[in-house]
Amino acid sequence: MTSLILAEHDNGTLKVATLHTITAALACSADVHVLVAGADCLGAAKAAAQISGVTKVLHAEGESLADQLAENLAAQLTGLATGYSHILCAATAHGKNVAPRVAALLDVAQISDVTRVIDAETFERPIYAGNAVATVQSADMVKVITVRTTGFDAATACGGSAPIVSVSAVASSGKSALVSRELSKSDRPELTAAKIVVSGGRALGSAERFTEVLTPLADKLGAALGASRAAVDAGYAPNDWQVGQTGKIVAPQLYVAVGISGAIQHLAGMKDSKVIVAINKDAEAPIFEVADYGLEADLFAAVPELVRAL
Ligand SMILES: Cc1cc2nc3c(=O)[nH]c(=O)nc-3n(C[C@H](O)[C@H](O)[C@H](O)COP(=O)(O)OP(=O)(O)OC[C@H]3O[C@@H](n4cnc5c(N)ncnc54)[C@H](O)[C@@H]3O)c2cc1C
Repeated sequence: MTSLILAEHDNGTLKVATLHTITAALACSADVHVLVAGADCLGAAKAAAQISGVTKVLHAEGESLADQLAENLAAQLTGLATGYSHILCAATAHGKNVAPRVAALLDVAQISDVTRVIDAETFERPIYAGNAVATVQSADMVKVITVRTTGFDAATACGGSAPIVSVSAVASSGKSALVSRELSKSDRPELTAAKIVVSGGRALGSAERFTEVLTPLADKLGAALGASRAAVDAGYAPNDWQVGQTGKIVAPQLYVAVGISGAIQHLAGMKDSKVIVAINKDAEAPIFEVADYGLEADLFAAVPELVRAL
């Protein structure tokens, strides 16, 4: 059995989600190949070749792959699928855009958001916003899987020496084209990769106060900033900071939830964090049920005090 993983990259470097996906793939099969598809992406292919456990890197180079359009990537993966027992993508926005197309083209069921591999055809995945875990088995010839990255440790980025094999790039489907891309620039760590996350909720009350209160704490801790959906919907924080069922799934070493009630949809995105600290003025707030450390206090007094103490 051999697994094929779609690498996430910016042509030069690999995204950390790929490392987690490789660990999941190694639980499915001993042989793990990585597809690095893009334009001028030899740098990323070389990085993939060094990852411990990777046995081959497929390097597809072409203009059709430059913008990482899901239609073209799905065609590329499908064209290579013969002989593979598993095709894995990270359950990121990118992977979730590509994998269902691959499953549809191969006419197999997708197994989504896998958090544990029991054996090559049996997997665990959370359902009902993480309130239950389903064990699912697939008899499909090829299993198309998205991997919840927080469920698997990152593979070691060095130590491997896999061969890099060139494969032809698919022609563009012509169905979609990249019109523009706006990259949010930040000196902070990326939310899903950060070791520490400071998240704010509706209680912050405005975008100005969100920044004023939480930025100094995040700066002191070297943390990424996150938010509840209520805070995002109210315009206090940007959309890509949302943590939860319909936002990002994070599992940092430390998650600080400030003025967040702890609705199940929020917990679904952060309850696997190693240490959870909650600051909330309501002793009954459900966030305290998952918190390792809870501070029942007014955040507008407690957070500045914490910043001073740090
Ligand atoms: C289909 C669906 C998907 C969803 N997906 C998500 C998701 O991905 N992520 C997400 O977060 N939510 C999601 N939600 C919304 C979720 O149900 C909650 O509405 C939301 O998480 C609440 O955000 P909050 O905790 O910031 O606000 P609230 O629930 O209003 O909580 C605010 C908290 O702040 C506390 N507080 C108020 N003032 C202070 C103060 N001065 N000091 C300290 N504490 C204070 C209050 O006691 C309260 O606990 C989803 C909902 C649905 C239906």
